[in-house]
Amino acid sequence: MKTYKIAVVGATGMVGRTFLKVLEEKCFPNCEYTLFSSARSAGKEIDFMGEKYICRELTETSFNEGFDIALFSAGGATSAKFAPIAAAKGCVVIDNSSHFRMDESVPLIVPEVNPEALAQHKGIIANPNCSTIQAMVALAPLHKKYGIRRIIYSTYQAVSGAGVEGVRDLERTAKGEAPEKWPHSIYNNCLPHIDVFLDNGYTKEEQKMIDETHKILGDKSIGVTATTVRVPILNSHSESINIELARKFEVEDIKELLKNSDGITLYDDVENNIYPLATIATDSDSTFVGRIRRDFSQPRTLNMWVVADNIRKGAATNAVQIAELLIAK
Ligand code: NAP
Repeated sequence: MKTYKIAVVGATGMVGRTFLKVLEEKCFPNCEYTLFSSARSAGKEIDFMGEKYICRELTETSFNEGFDIALFSAGGATSAKFAPIAAAKGCVVIDNSSHFRMDESVPLIVPEVNPEALAQHKGIIANPNCSTIQAMVALAPLHKKYGIRRIIYSTYQAVSGAGVEGVRDLERTAKGEAPEKWPHSIYNNCLPHIDVFLDNGYTKEEQKMIDETHKILGDKSIGVTATTVRVPILNSHSESINIELARKFEVEDIKELLKNSDGITLYDDVENNIYPLATIATDSDSTFVGRIRRDFSQPRTLNMWVVADNIRKGAATNAVQIAELLIAK
């Protein structure tokens, strides 16, 4: 049996540490791991798989060691520089940054939705944005059965989505200290501002949701708009999604379809106050869907509420599932 050499790049970060947790849970039998960070954390001891691993500094020669797969979560600049070096050495990179997502030669994969696109990879595979991944898990079955015409996303995104610095800014501002990560206190506030503002008035996060939805569903004709909001929640992103379908539907059929779709937990029993919550989704790999109801303001339209752990399904788990597909090939 082949032994896979796997590099985890950004192993000390919010997503990187969750990579390690998910890899421990999956316990692939025939894999050897090497953990990388920047020079800042090089030499740091990390408990992983019941052993002590020493984190190594990522350098231009790191990929001379014959890695098969590299899981990158170290920011766009690190991916831009090191992913092509790794790919040139025959290592398949699964990248969590946004750097390669819209590159036409790079597949953008949600394993429950478009695993077939993996076959087109040329050494780099992109993991979508956290808020896009959970939306795709919930929307792909609807698109397949009914055809989606238009999507309106409104997101409520946790501070962990901005990494260690995001969590620190919530802690800081909750104590009355000035924010350092964001222009305003995230404590007691909702900030309709994730990533930078673009010339078209959208934020880059909103534009990512729009563009990535088109790429993953393989359909640029779908109308998509988004408002993405950072909220003072530690972990798990919540999304209100309004969907106009091409064909008529019954709400009960939609519930049945989603209940039987991969990666989804239908959590929809309002009589018993059951609907997806951040505290329920946290530490789970599932995408929770509830509050499914008809939008009476126009034909063939529905609303739903979708919640998932942004660090697990929104980042680490999705990437590890992609690695699993590569290993299973
Ligand atoms: P984070 O907590 O700030 O961690 C950043 C990691 O990158 C650390 O391990 C850091 O190592 C490492 N790093 C930074 N510069 C490096 C370099 N030059 N060489 C090697 N390693 C370097 O950030 P995060 O939240 O985990 O996010 C990491 C990436 O995943 C980002 O691209 C982010 O956009 C993406 N992502 C995040 C989420 C989320 O929900 N948080 C979701 C999807 C995607 P040191 O310890 O040495 O600083």
